[in-house]
Amino acid sequence: MSESLKDNRVIHFLPDDDPHGWIQWKGTDVCVDIRCSCGGVSHYDGDFMYYIQCPHCNKFYEVNGHIELIEVSKKEAEENSYVVKIPEIM
Ligand SMILES: [Zn+2]
Repeated sequence: MSESLKDNRVIHFLPDDDPHGWIQWKGTDVCVDIRCSCGGVSHYDGDFMYYIQCPHCNKFYEVNGHIELIEVSKKEAEENSYVVKIPEIM
């Protein structure tokens, strides 16, 4: 039985304490800067970024939907971008 690299990954956050979210990718457009474990930096603009291959070392990655939430003041949020009002409470 082969061992999956994905099964051995370590996620560095405390799910009950650290603010975070999970993106459910729906094939929508994305613009992203990527830094690989090899140190290579790359950029992608496009759709369907579920898996990537590093253009520097050819390593493959699944694009995790986990996102970090960084707390800011109301003033900082409103000055920098449109603030999404989340309509759904789970
Ligand atoms: Zn790489």
